[in-house]
Amino acid sequence: MKFVDEFRDDVLARKISASIAAAIHPERLYRFMEFCGGHTHAISRHGIEDLLPENVRMIHGPGCPVCVLPTGRVDAAITLVNREDVILCTYGDVMRVPGSHRASLMRAKAEGADVRMVYSTLDAVRIAEQAMDRQVVFLAIGFETTTPPTALAIKTAKARGLRNFLVLCNHVLTPPAIQAILQSSKSDGPETVKLDGLVGPAHVSTVIGTQPYVRLAEEFRTPVVVCGFEPLDVMQAIFMLISQVKARRADVENQYTRAVTRQGNRAAQSAVADVFKVRETFEWRGLGEVPDSALRIRKEYAEFDAEQRYRIPYIPAADNPACECAAVLRGVKQPQDCKLFGKGCTPETPMGSCMVSSEGSCAAHWTYGRFRDIHNSA
Ligand code: SF4
Repeated sequence: MKFVDEFRDDVLARKISASIAAAIHPERLYRFMEFCGGHTHAISRHGIEDLLPENVRMIHGPGCPVCVLPTGRVDAAITLVNREDVILCTYGDVMRVPGSHRASLMRAKAEGADVRMVYSTLDAVRIAEQAMDRQVVFLAIGFETTTPPTALAIKTAKARGLRNFLVLCNHVLTPPAIQAILQSSKSDGPETVKLDGLVGPAHVSTVIGTQPYVRLAEEFRTPVVVCGFEPLDVMQAIFMLISQVKARRADVENQYTRAVTRQGNRAAQSAVADVFKVRETFEWRGLGEVPDSALRIRKEYAEFDAEQRYRIPYIPAADNPACECAAVLRGVKQPQDCKLFGKGCTPETPMGSCMVSSEGSCAAHWTYGRFRDIHNSA
């Protein structure tokens, strides 16, 4: 398949692996965080760590949209589905994220709540058109990649005069989260992880471009390479990061030139700016409150804002105390460090958000990485 097969060529992968081995200084440690869950999945699935020297370490970041949704936001959605007039629509993975007391939207659905899985925001708009006597709430989550379709759904509902379509907005922004991670990496303490470079997100960057990372790379003297999702993309990005470290550079480079530009997708950015504005602060699972890191619906579209319509206050909620998702999302711990990993917590029975989506570090490690652990310890 074009744009897939040629980026999975094992002979080329071994050549890049040899170039990486030749480029590194054998006595220094290279710690690179892949921000995005798609890269975490690719690294685990394709066994990329087996092609890297011992002293080149990949650290999983918080870029999985389902994983970073805090328990309090899940609880708010569950509260809403207890209203008889509400149909709640959302993407499949979100339905399985645990809320407080092991509740979830999936469990609420099993108990009779009207929760529906959709593949697109426009599916939710269609449901609203077909159920005019109900209030259809789309639970919107995700980074800059999923925000434009939510903006277009709201605009479509407005254009069609729909009065029963609402959005519970939990969209988050990547650059402020990267800033929080890089800030933390420059401080000392047991809860920080030192970084020598960042593999920048792919899908997000198709929308926002590479420009927003420039200030971050400069301020924190950390190289950033925006990278595609195939194994050769990731291998090449790691080589590019090592080359920057070697040359003491901290630039933003674009490995994913077949999809990402400096400026990004202007039409998508404009639709988002029309419908949403930046929240002063937002809680991320793992990162805590991060200033200017999420979006809310503008007052011009207030009639579509479920948060305003139902006056939903944000009530922070504690995670399962045995779950290490917060530390995993910060890169401080690895999935296998959690005592629930594989013992009660699996993709079929997730006890934390990182085991829900295939992009979550725990789910990726359960599906692929644990076999590497067994092999390495044999
Ligand atoms: S194994 Fe489960 S409980 Fe533990 S950190 Fe991962 S998702 Fe959370």
